[in-house]
Amino acid sequence: MEDCIFCKIVRKEIPSQVVYEDDRVLAFKDINPLAPVHILIIPKEHLTNVLDIHEDNVDLIGHIHLVANKIARDTGIAEKGFRIVTNCNKEGGQIIFHLHYHLIGGEELRNFA
Ligand code: AMP
Repeated sequence: MEDCIFCKIVRKEIPSQVVYEDDRVLAFKDINPLAPVHILIIPKEHLTNVLDIHEDNVDLIGHIHLVANKIARDTGIAEKGFRIVTNCNKEGGQIIFHLHYHLIGGEELRNFA
């Protein structure tokens, strides 16, 4: 997607602090971290949000969870605990309309649900 900010990050047209990359997934530090560890994990392919997940890309979504698992271990937040969040559409708090998973941890997180 031409104007999508996360597609631009994937194409390296906008700088980011990459913590993991492979052929399908990119993970980088959130520019406005809500906790000591706050990483965004995104598919390189442009999907708008979870409503864009279908039978033909469920493997990609499983892969994203494996990547989240690895990053959680590598950053040291796995043992104590962490959160994976994805916001969907405006009322769900989505600001960037490219599917992304927030991986958040490194401190005691408040329960909100
Ligand atoms: P959401 O509300 O789920 O759409 O979250 C979008 C997230 O993207 C927010 O946490 C922002 O801080 C983050 N963000 C926006 N622009 C950038 C950027 N250029 N690099 C890293 N994170 C960003």
